[in-house]
Amino acid sequence: MKISLICPQCASAADGVGTWFVETIRDDGLYTGKCPNGHDLLIATQTLRHEMLFEIALNGIRDGYYREAVLSFAGSVERYFEFAIRVISRGRAADTGLFAKAWKDVAKQSERQFGAFLFLYLTEYRCEPKMLGQKMTELRNNVARKGQIPERAEALLFGESAYEVIQSGIRQLRDTHLESVNAILCEETAVKAEKMGTKYPRSFQVTPTVLNVIEDTASGYKPFNQILKERGLCR
Ligand SMILES: [Zn+2]
Repeated sequence: MKISLICPQCASAADGVGTWFVETIRDDGLYTGKCPNGHDLLIATQTLRHEMLFEIALNGIRDGYYREAVLSFAGSVERYFEFAIRVISRGRAADTGLFAKAWKDVAKQSERQFGAFLFLYLTEYRCEPKMLGQKMTELRNNVARKGQIPERAEALLFGESAYEVIQSGIRQLRDTHLESVNAILCEETAVKAEKMGTKYPRSFQVTPTVLNVIEDTASGYKPFNQILKERGLCR
């Protein structure tokens, strides 16, 4: 799985016009090494974990790994729950130390995190969040726990549900807690920056991912089918 990056030195040499090059995706979101023109690089992506997992899932669809695609879509939804919990808690001025302590109690179990998300959302918005639904939850469980190998159509259906869950939620969070959304994004980037050191000039980048909390969704977001079309994935 690759990620698109821009070399800041190449871009400034070309009056700010950057060209993308690809690197293998990394868990910590940090990229060091050389660009195709030999510049030393130290780049951190601002991509959040749920956004990166969604990209990996779409790549899985493209490459024919439907089982891996479903698992990555499911992972993306779970990390979105975490993001939402962080945003709503911050919006309610939860003490950061206490939050970190509480998170330790749920960190290893996604079911606990889902429970936390559900009730936070209910009390915050007085309505149910969009969820995966019983059929999609069953599919995920069968794939994850029983070794089911889904077909392409099932993986796409699951991807569409995951997309709706995440995008509708992010839209709600942006509408009501934009400041907290941005603050959590900054925190995530700061954690990456801490690991960067100072050997090379640092740069931070927003990669062209399908999901992106920076994107203004006030007037809606693209339908999933359009995303597939843009990625050359027909249904
Ligand atoms: Zn370069």
